[in-house]
Amino acid sequence: MSLARRIVIVGAGPAGVGAALAARQQDRAADILLVSDERCEPYEKPPLSKAVLTGKAVPQDAPIAGPGGVAKHGITLKLEARCTGIDRAARMVETEAGERIPYDVLVLATGSINRTLPLFPARQPRIHYLRIEAEALALREELRKSRALVVVGAGLIGLEVASSAVEIGLKTRVIEIAPRILARVCDEETSSFIAARHRAAGVDISVATMVTGVRTLADGRIAIETDKAGTLSADIVVVGAGVMPDDRLAKASGLPVQDGIIVDEHCRTSDPAILAAGDSTRFAGPHGPVRLENWRHAQEHGAVAGRNAAGGNAVYNTAPSFWSEQYDLYIQGVGWPLAQPTVRVHRQVSPNAMLRFDLDGRVLRYASGINAQREIAAVRRLIERRIEIDPGDLADPAKPLAAMLKARA
Ligand SMILES: Cc1cc2nc3c(=O)[nH]c(=O)nc-3n(C[C@H](O)[C@H](O)[C@H](O)COP(=O)(O)OP(=O)(O)OC[C@H]3O[C@@H](n4cnc5c(N)ncnc54)[C@H](O)[C@@H]3O)c2cc1C
Repeated sequence: MSLARRIVIVGAGPAGVGAALAARQQDRAADILLVSDERCEPYEKPPLSKAVLTGKAVPQDAPIAGPGGVAKHGITLKLEARCTGIDRAARMVETEAGERIPYDVLVLATGSINRTLPLFPARQPRIHYLRIEAEALALREELRKSRALVVVGAGLIGLEVASSAVEIGLKTRVIEIAPRILARVCDEETSSFIAARHRAAGVDISVATMVTGVRTLADGRIAIETDKAGTLSADIVVVGAGVMPDDRLAKASGLPVQDGIIVDEHCRTSDPAILAAGDSTRFAGPHGPVRLENWRHAQEHGAVAGRNAAGGNAVYNTAPSFWSEQYDLYIQGVGWPLAQPTVRVHRQVSPNAMLRFDLDGRVLRYASGINAQREIAAVRRLIERRIEIDPGDLADPAKPLAAMLKARA
């Protein structure tokens, strides 16, 4: 019988794959099994709302583990296997097909699931939600045949879909219940800049608008009744109403869950044999418990879980960040947003590039950027090293950010 440590990872998004790759690095001999309920080699999700919809890429162009996939790293991939239970006493994962898979250490990386709106039930003709490759391919096919799209929800995914749809020639409308777009994501100034770019591209955005009814018309199209924007008809509707952590498996097995699987800074749950990482988890951030829904967090959190599953004792302390691509805008955020920044600074990098900084006194805590990728890389280090900065220097585009890194922390 093999004495190799048996690590089982449930979920093959960036957190699960990040965990598998890091576990392999930590323990060359470990027996690593990645269990996925999807049908293909793990792929990156960010292109699904961008290049995949415009037809410039297919999901398999971006395998998470690189060319050769996870197998190249000595990781066994079990596809189309949904885990339905954990027998914690016996250290076994149970699958829908009735298999029992033994583990020494288990990593849960079950990610998020889309929040569905009762007026727009999933799997109805012409109504789309977007999370996985099959949904992206189905949406791409239908967008190609359609002329008018209504996007419900002006979060990152909804707006990326709008931008992709405009690129392939659809007349696009966006309805948002909140008073502004991206209300959960960025400050008012950044959100108005992005809204203006959408409007310039021909997208009609209605904010503070509620959908009050949905009907299917005689020709199969969909009529969406709203309280402020009248009735809109659409060939196709995409709902981007946010996500919820998929903590169902953890909850069913009695692990502590509170809108996400509760983990410590080592990605450990209350069961010493079970770790968890990525979108599905909640952990202590500097301003209280947080749950993050972005790629870099998932991948790096997964790597910490994987190292620790294989005997390490790594700590997760990365500054979170996200990016989004819409038209010619590369939108980024890095750091821990403050409820009440004491200082807020704007830096105009060039006519089409800007940064916004949130400081706590002289310490930078959060920044958002548009078309400022190079600057954001320096900003990340300023945040992580907690370097004291003169806010006036941040506002002055003539003062290089990289030079501020040399200042005393
Ligand atoms: C369309 C789209 C575009 C995005 N674009 C960006 C972007 O531009 N920038 C950015 O920062 N972030 C982006 N994100 C967010 C980012 O992709 C997610 O934060 C990230 O994928 C989360 O990783 P994860 O591994 O935690 O979970 P997921 O990627 O959700 O992976 C979880 C996996 O686990 C599987 N699973 C769940 N339960 C079980 C079970 N019981 N048994 C077996 N398998 C199971 C799921 O099917 C899924 O494959 C985007 C997300 C989407 C959907």
